[in-house]
Amino acid sequence: VALIHYPVLSKNGEVIASAVTNLDLHDIARTARTYGVKGFFVVTPLADQQILAGRILAHWTAGEGARYNPKRGEALALIDIQANFSDVCRAIEDREACRPQVVATSARIAAGTVSYPRLRDMVARGDPYVLAFGTAWGLAEDFIEAADHVLDPIGGQRDYNHLAVRSAAAIVLDRLVGNQNRLSFESGT
Ligand code: SAM
Repeated sequence: VALIHYPVLSKNGEVIASAVTNLDLHDIARTARTYGVKGFFVVTPLADQQILAGRILAHWTAGEGARYNPKRGEALALIDIQANFSDVCRAIEDREACRPQVVATSARIAAGTVSYPRLRDMVARGDPYVLAFGTAWGLAEDFIEAADHVLDPIGGQRDYNHLAVRSAAAIVLDRLVGNQNRLSFESGT
């Protein structure tokens, strides 16, 4: 999973670098850990935001927070702060010995998006995928166009569709890698 702070859109449609939100780091890290995601990349080119994110991580993985709530530290330990998205893909390629397929997400309805069942089957084959989530008013168009896939928007009321990125990440991960087979719970397998 990658949380993108640049390039994203401002409310006026300009391409900006958004600020890191503490809540996003905690909630998406906990969701990622819950669903067995291998890494959670926080992408920002801004040095002060990288320092901020690093301080949050240090507190919960090695500081007072780690002592107070080790479970939270276990989730935040997934976080890898990167200056840009190409470094994310390089880091995954170094780890997985092949380039990850990039999946962009957006609330906007567009042609050529991939369905959840189809992407679930593709991910299940075991090749590396990186799910990119935006901040602010969403991922910049150039980013979405460069992705290998764009995931169907999570459907809500058509006249309002602005989920918090934390909520979107949880819904997407549950649909893609959540345990949808109730029988396995009943049979205890
Ligand atoms: N209107 C923005 C957009 O079109 O993405 C919503 C931005 S929201 C604050 C930040 C991120 O949450 C989006 O970049 C996307 O990754 C995710 N997101 C929000 N709503 C979503 C939806 N309905 N379907 C899929 N992803 C969504």
